[in-house]
Amino acid sequence: MDLNITVLGSGSSGNAVLISLGNYGILIDAGFSRKELLKRLNTCGIDPNIIKALIITHEHSDHISGARVIADFLDIPMFANHSTFQAMNAGKETKTGKKKIVFGTGDTFKLESFTIRSFKISHDAIEPVGFVINAKNINIGYAMDLGYLDNITKSRMKGCKVAILESNHDVGMLMNSTRPPYLKHRIKSRHGHLSNEQAMDALHELITQDTKIVMLGHLSNECNKYSIVNELASKKLSQLERTDVKLYLMEQEKPLTPVLIG
Ligand SMILES: [Zn+2]
Ligand SMILES: [Zn+2]
Repeated sequence: MDLNITVLGSGSSGNAVLISLGNYGILIDAGFSRKELLKRLNTCGIDPNIIKALIITHEHSDHISGARVIADFLDIPMFANHSTFQAMNAGKETKTGKKKIVFGTGDTFKLESFTIRSFKISHDAIEPVGFVINAKNINIGYAMDLGYLDNITKSRMKGCKVAILESNHDVGMLMNSTRPPYLKHRIKSRHGHLSNEQAMDALHELITQDTKIVMLGHLSNECNKYSIVNELASKKLSQLERTDVKLYLMEQEKPLTPVLIG
């Protein structure tokens, strides 16, 4: 059976990534409306009914805005840690679905042929996590919103065959932007988002002989450019003498063609 990654979209207006083995798919985050998610799945030629679980990284709306609706529509369980579920329910209307399954941060759980391990990441949400998802003996590391690469993130992501990481902003563009000072500070802080420079340093730390694919996402549309990230990452891979590593930039406006992992 084929193991595929389908990036449905990534950025501050919505994040969702599907990892599927044959006809069993796990959706990481659902930051698009049901309509938009279904449209993007259709664009990729994917039957939404293969999605059997939704796993949530943190409660920011660009990760959960469509979570309840899509989970209930597909009648699938939603997995998150306890604090994240609480935060999702803190507003006027519940954002969690009918079927909730709580995991402890750091725990490992199994879904069909997948083993999923969550790990704590540094970001300004209640209890944000990344995931290492294993199937067919292949590790896929996902660390999307994070202020810096702490030791746990480093150890979990290092040597994954696929590293999915954010490369959020160009520091110069951020500082020159019209964003208010508190927001600039928040983005740059250890609980904010990885700059391009930090993402490139992270690649230096994380890429081993086992790494074959790097996907960079959550690019700011105001404070970053695909061309900048592409150039920096290509340069980094050639410095590391790893131009064999396939590089993908995750986009906000449209999904990427499903990528066969193994
Ligand atoms: Zn986000
Ligand atoms: Zn976030």
